Amino acid sequence: MFLIKLLNVKVYLNPLFLVIIVLFSLTGMLAEGIILFLIVLFHEFGHIIAAKSLKYDVEKVELLPVGGVAVINQPLEFNGRNEWFIALAGPFNNLMMIALCFAFKDYLSHYQLILNANITLFLFNLLPAFPLDGGRVLRAYLSKKIPLNQANKIAVLMGFFCGILIMLISIYSFWIRAVYALYLLILSAFLVIASQKEYSRSAYSYFNLTLEKKEAPKSKEVLTAQVLMAHCDSIIYNVIKELSTRHISLVVVVDDDGEIIDFVTEYLLLDALKKGKGTASIKTLLY
Ligand SMILES: [Zn+2]
Repeated sequence: MFLIKLLNVKVYLNPLFLVIIVLFSLTGMLAEGIILFLIVLFHEFGHIIAAKSLKYDVEKVELLPVGGVAVINQPLEFNGRNEWFIALAGPFNNLMMIALCFAFKDYLSHYQLILNANITLFLFNLLPAFPLDGGRVLRAYLSKKIPLNQANKIAVLMGFFCGILIMLISIYSFWIRAVYALYLLILSAFLVIASQKEYSRSAYSYFNLTLEKKEAPKSKEVLTAQVLMAHCDSIIYNVIKELSTRHISLVVVVDDDGEIIDFVTEYLLLDALKKGKGTASIKTLLY
């Protein structure tokens, strides 16, 4: 559900969050629901401001009761430093709010709620489990030591296992406190589903596909080629998103008048992406 446009980024509210805010208001705690919403929003804007400061294009942000997902249009995994900088900016905002809470303790009306929500979001997001912020930092760290696809796999598996672990803890704690357990259950479901979703969405799926295609001629398989056309100022990553999964692509690069300047293979494009040049224009590959 589209909500508002902030700093040129579209903010969407997940229906689950809406349900929670309605539940809060029915129990006479609308203020609490809104406070929770604002804290999650502030966390996500930490990521967005950090991404924008590094010239990344942030498409949208979706707010869930357990945190948010900022959709950045270029893959971050090829630049570990940028990835951990953007990942840590969210929890950093929670840390700032925790400090402010202590500083203005006597003036805040919902002191305990604001403090607890921030501590929960801070700790949960720092779990080394992809796609949580801590999981992104783990992947960035591992990718310095082992190949990126292995680092990616470990971080995603950690996400999956942490999700299952929290799920087991929540089932166990049902006997202790049902509301708390339910919240944990939602958290864990989010983690398990999101780790799967993020993995298939990651730029790595392009790579695996292309590697398979590269093997095809060796096994004497025949693949059809397709020709794409792109303006020389097109962003490399945007062109990659148009690559077919079943064909080998050749990109014809044209200028403002539609005149052909050169041809670029998909391998060249993916190679540029791998070297962290996904946000550059296709023109930079020509000279
Ligand atoms: Zn975050």
